[in-house]
Amino acid sequence: MPPPRTPGTALRQQLAELRGPDTAPKALDARALAALAANPGCDRRALLDGVGVDKAKLAGALGAPSAFGMSQFAFMRGNAFEARVKADGGAELLRLVHERLDPRAEPPGSGTAPDLSAIGPEGRTARTELALREATGAGVWTLLDHPMLALDVAGSPAFLEPDAVVVHPDGGWTVVEIKSFPMLDGSADPAKVGAAARQSAVYVLALEEVAARLDPAPEVHHRILLVCPKDFSNLPAASAVDVRKQRAVTRRQLARLTRVEDIAAALPEGICFSPDLPADELMTAVESVPATYAPECLSACELAFHCRARSRERGAVTSLGRSLRAELGSLTTVPDVLAAARGTAGDPADPAVAALRRAALLRTEALRGTPATAGAPDGREAGACR
Ligand code: SF4
Repeated sequence: MPPPRTPGTALRQQLAELRGPDTAPKALDARALAALAANPGCDRRALLDGVGVDKAKLAGALGAPSAFGMSQFAFMRGNAFEARVKADGGAELLRLVHERLDPRAEPPGSGTAPDLSAIGPEGRTARTELALREATGAGVWTLLDHPMLALDVAGSPAFLEPDAVVVHPDGGWTVVEIKSFPMLDGSADPAKVGAAARQSAVYVLALEEVAARLDPAPEVHHRILLVCPKDFSNLPAASAVDVRKQRAVTRRQLARLTRVEDIAAALPEGICFSPDLPADELMTAVESVPATYAPECLSACELAFHCRARSRERGAVTSLGRSLRAELGSLTTVPDVLAAARGTAGDPADPAVAALRRAALLRTEALRGTPATAGAPDGREAGACR
């Protein structure tokens, strides 16, 4: 399998123009990719991420700042914990991987930790691949501290930096994710573990692309090691997390993303997403790209408050939840739904329309305290859905 393609000069130029002059691209990380994969139908997010727009800045410039981000204190605490886990050449981390994932292998003793420094993300990616090649088959435990991996996402390379990758003595590779949320009595907040699993699944996919270029291809383990502080202390606790399901979902969703150049080609002339532009120009630019807002965006995308406001303005039913949207079929707006319930619009043969009319009738009966006209086909006499 070839390494990820880098965009051609023309596309790079087009992306730079969309980002705005002198605006450095914001790199996609695994967290963003996992969130992107969670909403593959959103061209707006796919384009902005592919272009490298800083969505948090953009949301602020649009007057709808996101509630994302870690406090400085939490950030420093997380860094201190990670440094502690990786101290002494990663001895404790290798011990945890051995204990939780590969107890039949030789105990780590002193592993090796190659220097992965290089210039630029492309250089670091190449250096990581070389280190993985050298460590695979060396027969010793090897810790790759903050390696860099590349993954092709909708035609653009995304550079990803896992906390660590461990190469086992048998040549297998394991992703290690270090988080600062606590593990209490051996278990942690399921929502946070789920988010860590989705993030790790992206790293597993990127590692599989590297593994596929080696002969023989080493095994990329689908059980990753999640390391957290134990019971509010600063001591590490670790748990193996199977990410096969998240990997399969992410792989499928990423494959569904529309290519960035295809979305960009459909934009009007002169569109630019630079956060330095006036708010009304930015609003026009952002609204020129179709979006598929759902309440899940609130925990996954910096533009969520902006998209929610626009979605509500249009009366889109997706702002009430994807499952409701799916049940309503061809009725995509709240006015459509109300009209269908009143019997002033909609095909009575449509199961969603029939269910709405029946619900309106039942509601009227309940409010009147008497049965509404039996067999009333459209519930108009109910007059309740206003
Ligand atoms: S918040 Fe907006 S841009 Fe982000 S994923 Fe949702 S709809 Fe797309």
